[in-house]
Amino acid sequence: MRILFATSEARPLIKTGGLADVSGALPAALREIGIDCRLLLPGYPAVLAGVGEAKAVATLAGLPGGTVATLLEAAMPDNGVPLYILDVPELFQREGGPYQDVAGHDHADNALRFAVFSKAAARLAGADSPLDWHPEILHCNDWQTGLAPAYLRLAGHGTPSVMTVHNLAYQGIFPPSDLGTVELPPESFAVDGVEYYGNLSFLKAGLYYAHRLTTVSPTYAEEIRHPALGMGMQGLLGSRGDDLVGILNGIDTGEWNPSSDLYLPYEYSSRAPSGKKRCKLKLQQDLNLEPGKDTPLFGVIARLANQKGLDLILAVAEGILHRGGQIALLGTGEKALEAAFRDLGAQHPGRVAAVIGYDEGLSHRIEAGADIFLMPSRFEPCGLNQLYSLRYGTVPIVHATGGLKDTVEDGVTGFVFHEPTAHALWLAVDRALHAYADGKAWQRMMRAGMTRDFSWEKSARAYAALYRRLLEKP
Ligand code: ADP
Repeated sequence: MRILFATSEARPLIKTGGLADVSGALPAALREIGIDCRLLLPGYPAVLAGVGEAKAVATLAGLPGGTVATLLEAAMPDNGVPLYILDVPELFQREGGPYQDVAGHDHADNALRFAVFSKAAARLAGADSPLDWHPEILHCNDWQTGLAPAYLRLAGHGTPSVMTVHNLAYQGIFPPSDLGTVELPPESFAVDGVEYYGNLSFLKAGLYYAHRLTTVSPTYAEEIRHPALGMGMQGLLGSRGDDLVGILNGIDTGEWNPSSDLYLPYEYSSRAPSGKKRCKLKLQQDLNLEPGKDTPLFGVIARLANQKGLDLILAVAEGILHRGGQIALLGTGEKALEAAFRDLGAQHPGRVAAVIGYDEGLSHRIEAGADIFLMPSRFEPCGLNQLYSLRYGTVPIVHATGGLKDTVEDGVTGFVFHEPTAHALWLAVDRALHAYADGKAWQRMMRAGMTRDFSWEKSARAYAALYRRLLEKP
């Protein structure tokens, strides 16, 4: 099977969120089970610099806005997955992030940038591809590639497409005037098409035109069919019936392995867990927290966004400290939340460490050093940090939503609460503190989490089955 996996992020080259983790790992896991999966990425500076050698293999002309792109062929630096790079210097080689400038404002021409990227993906999957390699399925990811299924279908190409939603909150919404920019026919601007409450939505285009839809956990696949979490797409998603399935993400078990993690000061495993306490003491020292190997240490690593329920953590923080706990938070994002956690840290020196920033090494050391991980997300398509926590013996406390509900077993591997309120979170914290005080029960929970299998292989097999069914019955 030949799959073109079009994505706007893939670690280790370029990452703003969980999409990059999936795109960095799933294609390799698919190749492991015999599927010829290749990546398509925009030619951001970090991508061009990160791959080393790249060879020009085709020119793609006639993309939206009269854009001409050079297609480069390279390989992912870590796992060798074949990679096509869409090189358009005037669209992708600029400062800032993939979607925003250095000041944090969306690039003004995002509609054109990702229309060009989507159109190129559709071209490579269609009958008029300049490549010798012809994918049987185009696999698109999030709004940045949402127009690709529309281009494919509207041009009458038969190649089937899959659209994966990593987070429905990001919908690629542009004014109707951009319909001309992206060069879609006027009749596609309809409820049965790319129109979304009077605007153009790239994600809606993908959800409408792709042959199959997936999201990253079974519970989230169910939740987004309903108004509470459907973000306005529930009507369309509800009507697609069996075309929408949830496949749980895996984690990179090589990168996230406490017995070989190079970021950690000490190694440990479920059989030899003693290094974890030493990681904790070292973390306390590094973050200027009072040393104490029996102090319950709560870890938080998150984008500081409303989605993550951080206001609930702020609401229970004093209670945690009152019960003798400590909090170590790592995150960056909304300024008000950054300030609130900075203040909390300043009010409780030695008890709360709030590190505002993005730091991969520290994220590993918090996963290893903390006892309990807090993840009270209001919604969570899959979530990765609770999986890292399970693997690192850091018992997670999670809200029963999306992938959190599908991966944490209440009272066995973690603590699950059902209402996204400070009161419900507090009751879960209270249960966790009681279990922590009972050393044997705690050890049992840690071990149960550490021995769960969240490898990519399982997910890759589920995607392979979906591809197979799609090819049999498009
Ligand atoms: P989302 O994609 O919604 O941000 P996920 O839990 O799916 O949430 O994935 C977040 C990823 O980003 C994880 O790999 C997490 O460790 C990482 N991450 C988030 N914030 C930070 C940070 N400040 N420093 C380091 N890593 C972070």
